[in-house]
Amino acid sequence: MSEFSNIIAVAKLKCPKCHEGDLFINKNNYRYKGFFNMPDRCPKCHQDFQIETGFYYGAMYSSYAITVAINAGIFLLLNLFFEYNIGLFLIVDAIVLLVTMPYVFKVSRAVWLALMVKYDSNAIKKHESKA
Ligand SMILES: [Zn+2]
Repeated sequence: MSEFSNIIAVAKLKCPKCHEGDLFINKNNYRYKGFFNMPDRCPKCHQDFQIETGFYYGAMYSSYAITVAINAGIFLLLNLFFEYNIGLFLIVDAIVLLVTMPYVFKVSRAVWLALMVKYDSNAIKKHESKA
């Protein structure tokens, strides 16, 4: 499988090993109830999602990188279409970051897990043959 399919799986918040199981129980990014809940294991391939205690602290690094990319993108887009204006940048940036924050939180965890877990095209078959 290509890197592209890994990126699609991360963007869709799917298990990095099988690309089918959901990483989060609550799929609605704007519903608070159960927002942080992840299953302990992938429902399709049984990949462990809680690899070790505090595993997702590392997702702060991917969250930071994604947020910097969003900031840089907004800055470049605004400077392409408007004259430099720090007030406009701060207002647009704050709105975009607030709106994208729940998805950035979840996708940061997906990125962090995908960096540690390799894709396996036979992951589901292997799990089903064990069960
Ligand atoms: Zn899986």
